[in-house]
Amino acid sequence: MTASATPRPIPFFDMQAQQAPIRAELDRRIAAVLGSGRFVLGPEVTELEAKLAEYAGAAHAVGVSSGTDALQIAMMAEGIGRGDAVFLPAFTYTATAEVPLVLGATPVFVDVDPRTYNIDLADLRRRIDAIRAEGKLRPRAVVGVDLFGLPADWPALQEICAAEKMFALDDAAQAFGGSLHGKRLGAWAHATALSFYPTKTLGAYGDGGALLCDDADRAELFRSLRSHGEGKTRYEVLRTGMNGRLDTIQAAVLLCKLPLMEPELEARTRVAGWYAERLGNRVQVPAEIPGAVSAHGYYSILLPDAASRPRVLDACKARNVPTAIYYPMPLHQQPAYQAHHQGYAPLPVSEDVSTRILSLPIHAYLDEEQVGRVCEAVLADL
Ligand SMILES: *Cc1c(COP(=O)(O)O)cnc(C)c1O
Repeated sequence: MTASATPRPIPFFDMQAQQAPIRAELDRRIAAVLGSGRFVLGPEVTELEAKLAEYAGAAHAVGVSSGTDALQIAMMAEGIGRGDAVFLPAFTYTATAEVPLVLGATPVFVDVDPRTYNIDLADLRRRIDAIRAEGKLRPRAVVGVDLFGLPADWPALQEICAAEKMFALDDAAQAFGGSLHGKRLGAWAHATALSFYPTKTLGAYGDGGALLCDDADRAELFRSLRSHGEGKTRYEVLRTGMNGRLDTIQAAVLLCKLPLMEPELEARTRVAGWYAERLGNRVQVPAEIPGAVSAHGYYSILLPDAASRPRVLDACKARNVPTAIYYPMPLHQQPAYQAHHQGYAPLPVSEDVSTRILSLPIHAYLDEEQVGRVCEAVLADL
């Protein structure tokens, strides 16, 4: 190779590189499903549920059709609906806010912490008080999101939910593998929702998700709700449910990938370290919280001002360095949700962060040279 050889491309996600070491196992397990013909909730789903529960340290795992459906089933099991206020961060993926609305409940947007981008506890307390004082809605649930893979402050959120008699739901769609005080995400809230969308830390080759919990009755309810509210037999309908089932081929894929979780988490942590070393004195890098291990689902930096983002985006583009913006607009400003924020206190941190945030490639198959090139591009015109 000459010095002028085209440098290796830097994929934003790399699902292909991950496939190579498990390809034979994938072929074997998928062929087994094809042979069995049990395509929905087959034995691989049961096997996966046991392994997920064990990995996460939760008593129960229930495989479902997506992360969004996991959130919905968890809220349905709790009977959340009309008249209920569901508190959630304004700076998150749309699914977190969409679900309460689909169920007739009302999302109440809470600001985020400027260092962790997770729900701001003081603001949460203020908004719960405001909703109680207003007297129109019943404070019912908090959805804590572990944004970009960093666990939210679950001990504090649990305390608030216990004091207010509210349901604590962990949207861990970006954070599976992360942990707090030596205990993995999965049993920190009343229920934990996972997404197996292909780009998540544990990704299928299609849609999938799971619910984790410690309570046997709750798990039973999740199983019923994912299958149209079925009872002991398939044609006994006990409650209004939905089609939220996990299909067997996705479970087979996830069983092949589960053993990669730890080595990949280690590799992403190494990548995060390289980024922090090279960028930490110029931009805000992801927060290190004592006791918290981030799953590093995304690597998001906060640029010094909004004006620098278009320049950095151009510099990256010119150097074939892929980037993404999670998220360019906080949810309370989205056309679909604006009306639900009318009359409530502003969300200045969410608004500011959305103008300055920038996500860089992070996955287990990046090496230090590639990370070096990403950093050069980011710093070129900062
Ligand atoms: C991906 C994601 C979801 C939704 O998961 P799907 O499997 O795509 O339905 C929900 N919340 C957050 C924070 C996510 O990142």
